[in-house]
Amino acid sequence: MKFFLFLGLFFVVVWLIRGGRRRGLPGSPPQAPAVPSDGGSEASSESIVACVHCGLHLPKSEAVSSAAGWFCGDAHRLAHDVAKPR
Ligand SMILES: [Zn+2]
Repeated sequence: MKFFLFLGLFFVVVWLIRGGRRRGLPGSPPQAPAVPSDGGSEASSESIVACVHCGLHLPKSEAVSSAAGWFCGDAHRLAHDVAKPR
């Protein structure tokens, strides 16, 4: 009979320790890793443009702008200008 008493006491102690640890970390909810870092949020908020020549989608900061639109690089901007001169 004493064995079951100690077993119950053991589970109560384990339950208290686990509860205490959960209460000890108030500023770290389980959803915290899902929030991207400042660098990731910058990339997601940046608008994406498509290259007029090949249709490649890339961030606006990496694209080359022209009167005809956005291009993935100077090579495609020049190729588009040669194919369709203004
Ligand atoms: Zn391109």
